[in-house]
Amino acid sequence: MAIRRILLLGDPALRQVSTPVSDVAAAASVIDDLRDTLHEFQRTHGFGRGISAVQIGALSRVIYIEFEGAPYVLINPAFDHLSAETFELWDDCFSFPGLLVRVKRSCEVGLSFLDQTGNRQTLQASGAFSELLQHEMDHLDGILAVDRALDRNAFCLREERTRQPTCASPESPTR
Ligand SMILES: [Zn+2]
Repeated sequence: MAIRRILLLGDPALRQVSTPVSDVAAAASVIDDLRDTLHEFQRTHGFGRGISAVQIGALSRVIYIEFEGAPYVLINPAFDHLSAETFELWDDCFSFPGLLVRVKRSCEVGLSFLDQTGNRQTLQASGAFSELLQHEMDHLDGILAVDRALDRNAFCLREERTRQPTCASPESPTR
């Protein structure tokens, strides 16, 4: 178990497509590190809900999420469903924690994945959980929220948002 350094925007590893996990048991140490690193981010930043393995430099398709008090380990996740209905929100990312990006995400998603024991599971999510999953899934394919910016006004520094009501919408980020 270890707290790992989170890769920051500009690191080319964040643009890599992560590799499927072939041995679920061997992913245990990455999962432990994701949990420890997420907890450290929460401690130092006061927010934080999800992290993908690529963000600690492990190019495997693993996501660790804590949402509304429940932990989720997603190994080799794949979308079964992305709703056509979308909503807009200010997104953020551990890899550029000072920047908010206005993006559009599906209102609802369905996912299949392997759990830590290698069993196939499914998950349905809507709203905040849905957009969180879409953000973390993007990481596995080297896609970042900045790639999904809606337009040239879709960027706001976190420290600026209190001065700019347009950045302070209620569904603001708690990545
Ligand atoms: Zn991110």
